[in-house]
Amino acid sequence: MTGSIDRVLAAVDDAADEAVAFAADLVRVPTVNPPGELYDDCARLIGRMLGSCGFELEYHAAEGRPEHTPIHPRINVIGTRRGKSSRPVVHLNGHFDVVPAGAGWTVDPFGGEVRDGRIWGRGACDMKAGIAAAIFAAEAIRRAGIDLNGTLEISGTVDEESGGFAGVAWLAEHGRLSRERTDYVIIPEPLYVDRICIGHRGVYWFEVETVGRTAHGSMPFHGINAIDQMGIFFERVRRELEPRLAERHTEVPVAPAGARHATININGVIGGQPVDGIQTPCVADTCRAVFDRRFLLEEGFDRTKTEIVALLESIAADVPDFKYSIQDLMVVHPTRTPDDSPVIGALDRALHRVLGRSGGLVASPGTYDQKHVARIAGVPDCVAYGPGILDLAHQPDEYCDIADLVNATKVIALAVLELTGTS
Ligand SMILES: [Zn+2]
Repeated sequence: MTGSIDRVLAAVDDAADEAVAFAADLVRVPTVNPPGELYDDCARLIGRMLGSCGFELEYHAAEGRPEHTPIHPRINVIGTRRGKSSRPVVHLNGHFDVVPAGAGWTVDPFGGEVRDGRIWGRGACDMKAGIAAAIFAAEAIRRAGIDLNGTLEISGTVDEESGGFAGVAWLAEHGRLSRERTDYVIIPEPLYVDRICIGHRGVYWFEVETVGRTAHGSMPFHGINAIDQMGIFFERVRRELEPRLAERHTEVPVAPAGARHATININGVIGGQPVDGIQTPCVADTCRAVFDRRFLLEEGFDRTKTEIVALLESIAADVPDFKYSIQDLMVVHPTRTPDDSPVIGALDRALHRVLGRSGGLVASPGTYDQKHVARIAGVPDCVAYGPGILDLAHQPDEYCDIADLVNATKVIALAVLELTGTS
């Protein structure tokens, strides 16, 4: 076993330049989402590399999803490489969409520049280096002359940044990723090269509308201003809800630590007349606001929503004429990999072997495709582990350290060996 491990680690080092070049090639395809540019090109680029590494290919267009259009097709690619036996199946999944570049760059966001020991550009860290790490982990095992027990699958999927509904969720809904056919899933998202990410907090996006009664703006006492009504809700959220949320801590090791308690954010508000238009003297009769409530595994969704509704009801009891409605926009339940999952153990041992340490477990402040793997596909043994620093994701001058890419490739390769019981 030691001999084969050493051969695999050496093969990763030998292939480092190729892995870097491939990650840079991926960055040069601006798969910007929204709207979902060049997905087909990027899926084919990943497919060609998988094909040259001995994988059989499938392309899955997300038929039936409204965002899958002739102009912006949603194309996912999966490579499969069978070893000595068909099971277990280890699936490595990376999303290849990236968020828009935004302002403030000092390098070309889609130039794929390699300089100062780093790969630069939008998606370098989130998560095209991760896709390169997955493929070159598989390739290093092959070049080391090792035939796996079991099957390795690698997928490149779309739309993670916008919810993953045409990507991992689609593959799970269509049975391509499922408890029956998939044993272990590793998602090489950038969550620090020495740490294993075991899930994320829950998300509750909701809209509140307050309804007033319009009147002449010179006699506002004849009407009910819906913006004032919304202001009451904002104030109660700030005074009553936020202090309660700040005191609710999760046992899940969310990083950064500031996200280890429950939070609420006001995403947007609109009410009354458009402020950049011609004004008339009218009391605002409607106001709408969207909220982003991140809830903890320990809170659960029902308690989270009940608390919001109770706050609105208590205002309605206190304030005459307070009329409101609430609408759920999106609910993502928290996920957490079981502590005794073999995928955690395998990665932890690989981290000690490669880096001489393990930073332990983390959870993500946001969400990622693990939710679909866990909740739709029903595969509990899923974690995120990959190269790159989470804090750089979606920032200008995004980069991934080449050393991170090489180390993560080694860690993933060793974890695959252990999970498949290959010696
Ligand atoms: Zn990502």
